[in-house]
Amino acid sequence: MSVKQDFISPQVYDVLIVGAGPVGLATAIALYRRSIKNILVIDRASEFRRVGQVIDLLPNGLKSLKYIDELAYNKVKEAGFEFRTPPSHNHPDDKDSAIEPEKPPQKRAWHHKNLQGKIIRSIPLDFETWFDRYGEGRVSLSWFDLQTTLRNLLPSEIVRANHRCVNVAEDGTWMQISCDRNSAPATNPFAHWEMQKTDAIAIDSTDKVTSDSPEKNFRAKLVVAADGINSTIRQVLYNNSDLSQWAKPQYSGFCAIGCLQIDSVPDEIIQKLENKYFQGDRLITLYQDPTQSDSQYLEQPRIILIRQQENTLGYLLHAPISLDSLPNKSAKEKIELAVNVLEKANFPLIFIRLIKLSNPETLFSRPYYIHPTTISIDSKPVWSSRRVVLVGDAAHGMPPFAAQGVNQGFEDAASIATLIAKIIDNNALDNEKAIANEFSKYEQIRRSFMMKIQEATMKNHVWSQQQWEDYSEMVYSRNLQQLISNL
Ligand SMILES: Cc1cc2nc3c(=O)[nH]c(=O)nc-3n(C[C@H](O)[C@H](O)[C@H](O)COP(=O)(O)OP(=O)(O)OC[C@H]3O[C@@H](n4cnc5c(N)ncnc54)[C@H](O)[C@@H]3O)c2cc1C
Repeated sequence: MSVKQDFISPQVYDVLIVGAGPVGLATAIALYRRSIKNILVIDRASEFRRVGQVIDLLPNGLKSLKYIDELAYNKVKEAGFEFRTPPSHNHPDDKDSAIEPEKPPQKRAWHHKNLQGKIIRSIPLDFETWFDRYGEGRVSLSWFDLQTTLRNLLPSEIVRANHRCVNVAEDGTWMQISCDRNSAPATNPFAHWEMQKTDAIAIDSTDKVTSDSPEKNFRAKLVVAADGINSTIRQVLYNNSDLSQWAKPQYSGFCAIGCLQIDSVPDEIIQKLENKYFQGDRLITLYQDPTQSDSQYLEQPRIILIRQQENTLGYLLHAPISLDSLPNKSAKEKIELAVNVLEKANFPLIFIRLIKLSNPETLFSRPYYIHPTTISIDSKPVWSSRRVVLVGDAAHGMPPFAAQGVNQGFEDAASIATLIAKIIDNNALDNEKAIANEFSKYEQIRRSFMMKIQEATMKNHVWSQQQWEDYSEMVYSRNLQQLISNL
């Protein structure tokens, strides 16, 4: 694609980052804190809106963020919310209440249970338990709150909304980045979940966005593609090359079907689910026990149940169905599809009855995609080309089954910013060989690790407790600071 010469910014940025998601912003912060300030982040969103699901940041992601910038780490921690069960107040009729002191709030865990209600795996939800075990905690917050917290740590003129990158091309020595402005508002259909209809967030002084710049196209010495799983830049780099079949994300084999708020669930269903499965929890995941020999297949469905207030429940089903099963289906047909999946996997009737109560108006569904990290072409780099490098979901997007998307993206951000800082410190921005050398280091350490993470993402539900613990130790206990500073 040729680049239009009009509206080109006269400035040549050292680094232009495409995508103001968590990974693009973390990369920008890492560069900025290392005194690389001639940078720009652009995003296609016309306004930053409250989109996106809850993100769990785990020890490896938080360690990376701390390495990137201690202030960002502290701000993100402050923005997170706590999972705690309410304190158990003694009932006034309870004879022992006068002598028993009030119990402290319990630490909560996300239990994975089998269809008999037995706990298979227990994932702590509080910061301290993770910290004690792996030297760093766990924080949960919404994608939007994470984006806003990181965005507010950068000077407003560095982050520009309403610039949808449509092309990157070489322009003599540097790169040209062409953008569309005022394109139809679009959320990322792959990474962001619109859980409810939301209005754009008003832009005020605390919500810093610059979108009224006259420039449409930019020049930069390096381009970091952080434009998510449906990355435009990945497609520009891969199309018409040996990698063309990997330009777009591949279907992972799983779809999500969910309804987060089913009101007026009959008491009898609530009681049965409470007695056998919730047992005081508010969030549980259920699936066939992998230790039973006939359930060792990867394509088994999993259902997450969420206990809201009194008679309100929600669910999210991860269903192994073909990609063409969903489009053009009515809500009623999707409910039938979910029922069929659970019946086929021998889920007890109580789950089928719950799914049948789904509110068709709030039922949602979407396929999960992946950029497999196993692709390779004659040992050529697949995450970079000349002056352009892919990070985050643009490089290795995957389903959220191991909650590692942002966490791995922060590892990318910490690594690539360290290497870019090295290129700049060595005055090597005009030395393509030196750039290729640093980008290949990034790919070497990050891609081999991502292979393990993607494998865990697709298989962890059939793992034994021991396999899960070994994996957790390998991912969360690593000394990332040392790994990255050795780059
Ligand atoms: C239901 C669900 C639950 C998840 N839970 C977790 C979890 O618990 N923990 C975890 O670590 N991860 C989780 N993830 C994954 C996580 O959301 C992604 O891995 C993460 O958002 C990727 O960050 P990113 O910055 O690479 O891309 P994105 O978050 O997708 O951000 C990309 C940005 O680029 C912009 N953009 C896109 N195209 C263009 C363009 N052409 N030009 C300019 N800008 C563009 C977009 O507007 C967006 O702001 C979950 C995902 C889902 C769907």
